[in-house]
Formats: sequence, structure tokens, C-alpha cells
Amino acid sequence: NSLIDTLESTIRTIPDYPKPGIAFRDITTLLGDARAFRRAVDELVQPWAGSKIDKVAGIEARGFILGGAVAHQLSAGFVPIRKKGKLPYDTVRIAYSLEYGLDEMEIHKDAIRPQEKVILVDDLIATGGSADAAIRLMQQIGADVIAAVFVIDLPDLGGAAKLEKLGVPVRTLVSFA
Ligand code: 5GP
Repeated sequence: NSLIDTLESTIRTIPDYPKPGIAFRDITTLLGDARAFRRAVDELVQPWAGSKIDKVAGIEARGFILGGAVAHQLSAGFVPIRKKGKLPYDTVRIAYSLEYGLDEMEIHKDAIRPQEKVILVDDLIATGGSADAAIRLMQQIGADVIAAVFVIDLPDLGGAAKLEKLGVPVRTLVSFA
């Protein structure tokens, strides 16, 4: 499939980053390629072209870059989901587990109104821990999370399956097994 090949060929893999044994998938090279960036965004939104989506939420930090472009493409608003302590107004916060220990993410409490339709965006889904927390956080303020989209899936880590179990459809473009 030529689309997948085009996208895959623009993603750079960095061995042993951030630590030995990890193959880091670097999307800065995809973002820097005009054609690949446009195609990735077009392909992420394709099932919802022409539908009414109220908000696109992006997970800090690479989810902001893709999420802004996706929101523009769908004529939706953009909502940042950030690491704790970064948002200036009243927030709702959720704790989630990382490989070592806990972290917390936040959203402005008025960023999404009850029943608004939201699509979640991030660059990559691995265990699904970040996306799962982001979805539960948005659901706490009444959002109707209709899908979660990612450029890259690491299917061996089970994240997409985990979100599907929450009842949120997942769309990914490139898999690295
Ligand atoms: P998860 O919570 O699904 O285990 O991990 C996904 C989160 O970690 C995403 O926010 C993603 O940006 C980041 N992440 C983990 N591994 C990689 C990687 O290899 N490349 C990139 N670009 N991000 C990664």
C-alpha cells in the first residue's frame, strides 16, 4: 500500500533511545516532510470528513502538532491535555501509571461541554496508558469521545485493543511490530 509505505519511510527509528533496548519511532521526520504531513492528517480524519465534530483533543506534546492540524481539517476546536501544572485555569486531573511510577494529566474543566463529540489525537499508541487516561478524563467532564487516532501503532503492546475495550474506536496508520 503506497500511502502506508510513504508514511512509514518518513518515520525515523532511533535505536536504544531513550534507553537501551528501545527503538524510538521519531515522527519529526514525517512532520518535516510536507507531503507526508498532509497525507497523514488527511488519512487520520478521513472517516469523519463532513461530520460534525465539536473538539479535537491532543495529548502533550506531539499530539498538539497533529491535533491542531486535525482540528483545522475538521473545522473543530482544539483542546490541549497537558502534564499537571501547565494549564492556567481550573482543571480536572487524572493519575495514570507509567512504566515506573505515576504521572498526572489535566484538562481545563470547561474545555469540552457535556455531550460534545470529541476525537483524541496522539502521535503513537504503545500500552494505551496515556490515551486511556485522556479518554477517562474527558468522559469525567461529560465528553462523548467518538474515536482515538494515532499515526503509529505498536500492536504488540496492546494499546489499541485496550481502548476498543473501553468502547472507543481506534484508527492508526502505520504499525511497527
Ligand atoms: P502509551 O501511553 O500508549 O504506553 O505510550 C504512548 C505515549 O508515549 C505517547 O504520548 C507517545 O508520544 C509516547 N511514546 C512512546 N513511545 C514512543 C515512540 O517510540 N515514539 C514516539 N514518537 N512517541 C512515543
